[in-house]
Amino acid sequence: MKAARFYDRGDIRIEDIPEPTPDTGEVLIKVAWCGICGTDLHEYLDGPIFCPTHDTPHPISGETAPVTMGHEFSGVIEALGGGIDDLEVGDHVVVEPYIIDNSIDTGETSKTYHLSPHMNFIGLAGRGGGLSEKVAVKRRWVHKISPTIPLDQAALIEPLSVGYHAVERAGDIRPGDVALVGGAGPIGLLTAAVLKAKGATVVISELSTLRRQKAQETGVADYTFSPQETDIVEEISKLTDGRGADIAFECTSVNAVLDTLFDAIKPTGVIVVVSIWGKPAQLDMQKLVLKEVDLRGTIAYVNSHPQTIKLVESGKIDLAPFITGKIMVDELIDKGFDTLIHRNETAVKILATTDPALLHRP
Ligand SMILES: [Zn+2]
Repeated sequence: MKAARFYDRGDIRIEDIPEPTPDTGEVLIKVAWCGICGTDLHEYLDGPIFCPTHDTPHPISGETAPVTMGHEFSGVIEALGGGIDDLEVGDHVVVEPYIIDNSIDTGETSKTYHLSPHMNFIGLAGRGGGLSEKVAVKRRWVHKISPTIPLDQAALIEPLSVGYHAVERAGDIRPGDVALVGGAGPIGLLTAAVLKAKGATVVISELSTLRRQKAQETGVADYTFSPQETDIVEEISKLTDGRGADIAFECTSVNAVLDTLFDAIKPTGVIVVVSIWGKPAQLDMQKLVLKEVDLRGTIAYVNSHPQTIKLVESGKIDLAPFITGKIMVDELIDKGFDTLIHRNETAVKILATTDPALLHRP
């Protein structure tokens, strides 16, 4: 079967590899669509980061490069390994793409399995990936979805779950709470989508005109402002009768954005840092101290998929407008990565498939 495999920085190859077979407790999925993530681009440009090298195997998967890429995918069950009686061939599914040590409690009430040592992802550190025709995944990480969710939109449930968990980290949202989101890249937009679905008034601060337009078109923002043209803190103050934003989300890893969130947040407000930071940030600690601000991190998701899927099934979130391109896996580098690296203001989510019939379906 066809698969996009990471060998090393700047070296991803589309190759023919043997099809996986499901072991006991595994589900064989025929992949429909797989999204390209910023993390995939980082591996290509600056990696290996999450991916293993040629000589050091990942401690849990045991695999070395090359590894199949793609962790944001949807598909249809093609076969079941032994011991699975709650899923059927033909079910539509998405995957919570974790590689987590067997000793860790990954039960429905766990709030911490995503923070366990050497946690990594299917499609980055081994165990196949969504940028291929088929993948065998442990039952635990397979989530059935309603066939009413189109499979292309379903591929966005994984990044939407990142937004869902980020919003969970902010605590309970009351309708009318004012949420400030710094940055309208894919994760900023999807975090805003969850906030909107939960009844918050969403304000997005974003430099790029095209990204602000996207935030408006998709309906996830009540207000969008350019921090170059508008005093964000003043606008938030106007919208909240001087109170300040109730919650804020940092989705850029830009220090100036973090500073703005500290100035715009209300006393006792919560700031959630969603982006991955490649370097230490500077923080005026007095701004945290004098307003008793809660600064919180968030990473990926933990038991977030079921609720995220419900939001999409209920129609409260429409994922269609976030799909800005569809390509064949063969075109991954030329069309997919190239667009996201050089023209990333116009692209939110590009999906890839190995099935030409899916690509040409209207
Ligand atoms: Zn991702």
